[in-house]
Amino acid sequence: MYMWKPKSIQLVIKLTKLCNLRCKYCYEYPYLGDKRKIELTDIEKMFQNILPSVVEHSISKVEFVFHGGEPFLLSASYYRSIFEMQQRIFGQAGILFQNVVQTNLINLKPEHVQLIKDDVISGVGVSIDLFGEERVNQSGKSMDHRTLANMDILAKENIFVSVISVLSGKTAPFYKEMFAFFDKCNTTWRLLPIDLTGYEGQHDDNLLTAVKLVKILKDLFDQWIQSESAIKFEPINEYMDIAISFLNSNETLHKFSKETDDSLFIINTNGQVFCEADAYNDLFAYGNIFTTPFSALLSSSARKRAIERANLITGSVCNDCMYYGHCSGFRMAESTTEKLYWDVNGNISCTVIKPMVDYIVEKLTFDNTFPLSKGSLSTDKQLAVL
Ligand code: SF4
Repeated sequence: MYMWKPKSIQLVIKLTKLCNLRCKYCYEYPYLGDKRKIELTDIEKMFQNILPSVVEHSISKVEFVFHGGEPFLLSASYYRSIFEMQQRIFGQAGILFQNVVQTNLINLKPEHVQLIKDDVISGVGVSIDLFGEERVNQSGKSMDHRTLANMDILAKENIFVSVISVLSGKTAPFYKEMFAFFDKCNTTWRLLPIDLTGYEGQHDDNLLTAVKLVKILKDLFDQWIQSESAIKFEPINEYMDIAISFLNSNETLHKFSKETDDSLFIINTNGQVFCEADAYNDLFAYGNIFTTPFSALLSSSARKRAIERANLITGSVCNDCMYYGHCSGFRMAESTTEKLYWDVNGNISCTVIKPMVDYIVEKLTFDNTFPLSKGSLSTDKQLAVL
């Protein structure tokens, strides 16, 4: 019998691969012209296969993240049908659920806005970089102006969005300008290094070294801490939480155990289920949620392999780290290959999080110029959208 007891779960559902952009770093790049979507009959089977596990393990909340491709290429009626199913299946069982969409926001119709106003979709993550010319359409043109115009439309409706930007070799030269823009917008911002590969050679010369990444993050921390608005900014907020927990020795420790805490699942258009670290790797496919109960996927041999992989990584990297427990080790356990760094001896090492927490701890304890009154020492973590 498997031990699994997360408080809530997040299901990232690839509703379609179809997209109106051809972002050069997109790991779905080879499939972005595929017009198929998950049929409603399969969505229903998926929900029916998930519900018994949610009830059995007393999971209090399920967050569905509608992902693509571009989810707003799908009709509002499709989402309303999904919502009706969710109310019937999860709502009637007393399970809290919410829907979040991750969109490039180029195609925003009034009926999509109405979905948000009606709480069919209650969270919106917007992907935009502003710089680097990587987010382009099939003609190679940036469509950022459309995204920004649609962000304005949502802002006028008092609809809050979270923004995700990708940090790549091409966008990296503009990190200061990117931060300044989103800081001025006073929006939640997540800066996400490239984390998956769509085809061989896709990221040649576009992945950042750990040294470069840490330099950028340190600069951004300094920029963020000097800012008046101090927006919610990941991963800096996460590093701050670890540093503050470390300095407050009475904080409760938590070490991520994939076996018991696994809460993030990626569901591909064909129903195959993966965890974040091993997404799209058939060796680590838990099984098919359209045809198989979630309980069987949780006890699958593929998931056992994923658990072993995660344990091996945290065992070798985190066990001797002074922050372990303040830092759960989750990011290391769930790192994709693209996000792992090896030291000169060929061992996986924590070459980004630990140096960043070191830096922040030093700033918090030794730097008298640190504006402690800022109120930015928040431990109010947000459930970041992928
Ligand atoms: S090694 Fe890195 S991921 Fe692991 S606990 Fe330390 S800071 Fe966290």
